[in-house]
Amino acid sequence: MSNNIRKKLIAGNWKCNGSLSFIQNHCKNVLNTMVFDPTKIDVLVAPMTLHLDYVRKHLTNQNVLISAQNVSKTKEGAFTGEINANALKDFGINWTIVGHSERRALFDESSQVVASKVTIADEHKLNVIACIGETWDDKSNNQTLKVLEKQLEPIIQNKPNWNNITLAYEPVWAIGTGKSATIDDVHSTHVEIRKLIKKYVGEKQANSLRILYGGSVTAKNAKELVSLQDVDGLLIGGASLKDEFKTIVEISSKL
Ligand code: PEP
Repeated sequence: MSNNIRKKLIAGNWKCNGSLSFIQNHCKNVLNTMVFDPTKIDVLVAPMTLHLDYVRKHLTNQNVLISAQNVSKTKEGAFTGEINANALKDFGINWTIVGHSERRALFDESSQVVASKVTIADEHKLNVIACIGETWDDKSNNQTLKVLEKQLEPIIQNKPNWNNITLAYEPVWAIGTGKSATIDDVHSTHVEIRKLIKKYVGEKQANSLRILYGGSVTAKNAKELVSLQDVDGLLIGGASLKDEFKTIVEISSKL
C-alpha cells in the first residue's frame, strides 16, 4: 500500500530547554516564517510544560501544533508534581509525547508505565507520540526487534485507539549523539515495526499508523530519511531548537 494515506509529521522536541526570550525569537524567526503546505505535512513543537501557553501566544503560524513532552499516568488527585491529561486538554493541548528514552532511562519509566500513559491520553482523546528504541548494547547483540516488541507489548495489550497514536522509532544511541542510524537500518526497522503492528493489532491500523524516525536528524540528512516509504515523519531534538528546523520542515513539505 502506498504511504499517501499517511501525512508526514515533523515534530520538534525541545526537551528541558528554552526561555521566554528564546521562545519569542524562535517563534518570530523560525516557526512563524516557515512555509509549508498543511495539507501535505503536520508540524508540531513540544516545549516544556511551563512554556506551552507562552509558545501558543507567540505562534502566529496557526498550522503549527503544540504538544506536551509527557503526561501523568494518573488522573486528578493527590499526585504532587504531575500534569494530568485532563489539564492538558483543558488548556487546549491536544498532543503529548510519551516514553521518550530520556524518561525511560533517567526517570525509570517502564514500558508498563509508558503504556498506562498512552491509555490515559487515549481516554482523554489526546494524540500521542509514543517513543520506542533500542540501546547500543541491544543493537550490538541483535536484540533490536525483540526490544521494540517488548516495548510495544503493553501498549498493544491495553487496546488503545490506534487512530490517536503515532510511534517514534528512536534508537537510544542515535539521540543527541550526531550519529544517525543508517538509511538501510531506518528503512528495515520501520518495516519491521509496521509488521509487528499488523500482526498484533491489524492490517488497517498498521497501514494508517504513522511511524516517525528520531535520532540526530539535521537539515543535511532529513530529506533522505523523510523520503523513505515507511518513515512518516521525524522527531527532532537538537535541530528543532535551531533555524534549521525551518529548513527541515520546508524540505519535507516539498517532497
Ligand atoms: C529526541 O530528543 O527525540 C532526539 C531525537 O534528539 P536529537 O534529534 O537531538 O538526536
